[in-house]
Amino acid sequence: MKSYASKRVLVTGGAGFLGSHLCERLLAEGCDVLCVDNYFTGSRDNVVHLLKHPRFELMRHDITIPLYVEVDRIFNLACPASPVHYQHDPVQTTKTSVHGAINMLGLAKRLGARIFQASTSEVYGDPEVHPQPEEYRGNVNPIGPRACYDEGKRCAETLFFDYHRQHGLSIKVARIFNTYGPRMHPNDGRVVSNFIVQALKGEPITIYGDGSQTRSFCYVDDLIEGFVRLMDSPDDITGPINIGNPGEFTILQLAETVIRLTGSKSRIERRPLPTDDPKQRKPDITRAKSLLGWEPSIRLEEGLGKTIAYFDALLGQEALRPAAE
Ligand code: NAD
Ligand code: UDP
Repeated sequence: MKSYASKRVLVTGGAGFLGSHLCERLLAEGCDVLCVDNYFTGSRDNVVHLLKHPRFELMRHDITIPLYVEVDRIFNLACPASPVHYQHDPVQTTKTSVHGAINMLGLAKRLGARIFQASTSEVYGDPEVHPQPEEYRGNVNPIGPRACYDEGKRCAETLFFDYHRQHGLSIKVARIFNTYGPRMHPNDGRVVSNFIVQALKGEPITIYGDGSQTRSFCYVDDLIEGFVRLMDSPDDITGPINIGNPGEFTILQLAETVIRLTGSKSRIERRPLPTDDPKQRKPDITRAKSLLGWEPSIRLEEGLGKTIAYFDALLGQEALRPAAE
């Protein structure tokens, strides 16, 4: 049995895309799960199937406000993750990353709880080193439109390591690279959800710039396995650890693959490249492999197939819904 079982685990942002998959996994591991979310980008729909589970509890709460609960472990995932959503209210985004981290670290300190931070490949900014190892310190514009997210997450990492050094907290920092799968928000503007929804609706596929920029896409099940292994690793493994799929694709390749897999008649339409859009991104996962024995196993086409099936069903339900709803 894993050391996880019979632990009370708090998941902030638990009603979001990644959080809902993590809650499911933790329940399957035998944990009591307290899911906390302010529903900014997540929703009860993502966890509605868990509400009847005897070891699942859902609480509406904003982590920029202190939280007093009793748990053994904390996964801190609360933060809007897509550029459209995190730029909607950038001050709130920074507050969620920074004040949220302070509140959750304070909670962990009082409880002596181990705490995991969902950090991001965005700490590398528009990288000049490729692929990105954890030692790379990044190339982030501190005053651009992405800074509320990138710098907020960087500051959160700083706080995690200071709480570790100053207060002896057991910390686990994961740097997550672009992840996709069922329960992504259909309108959050991320590239995988955008392209699939556009393809299924027969609308133009919107490529920003010339489509030569690259990303590495990890299927959600692989990512959650990495989370669980990192959280369960010995105290001296603090991270940061890159968790992502090193398969690297141009955005144009992604568009062509989605069109092929959906059999869509959509055409490709060019749009301006957003400010500070990173030109390339690919994780170096040497650390995750050696320290956690983790590497992703789901290929892009397989993961896209599952994600397309999810959005196809979702769009079908929406089409059946009466207009007044
Ligand atoms: P998401 O938007 O689906 O989930 C975030 C959740 O946090 C939502 O349910 C939202 O309502 C909640 N939330 C936001 N602000 C909050 C606040 N102040 N208090 C309480 N809840 C709040 O995004 P996701 O893709 O599931 O991302 C989860 C975490 O992983 C985020 O921290 C994100 O930065 C990180 N991450 C995700 C990716 C990815 O590709 N999905 C990549 C890098 C990092
Ligand atoms: N992108 C695109 N069309 C879209 C949405 C995104 O070409 O409809 C591009 C975007 O400019 C970026 C890449 O896809 O280069 C990934 O964007 P996303 O918002 O998913 O994540 P991030 O930029 O944070 O990696």
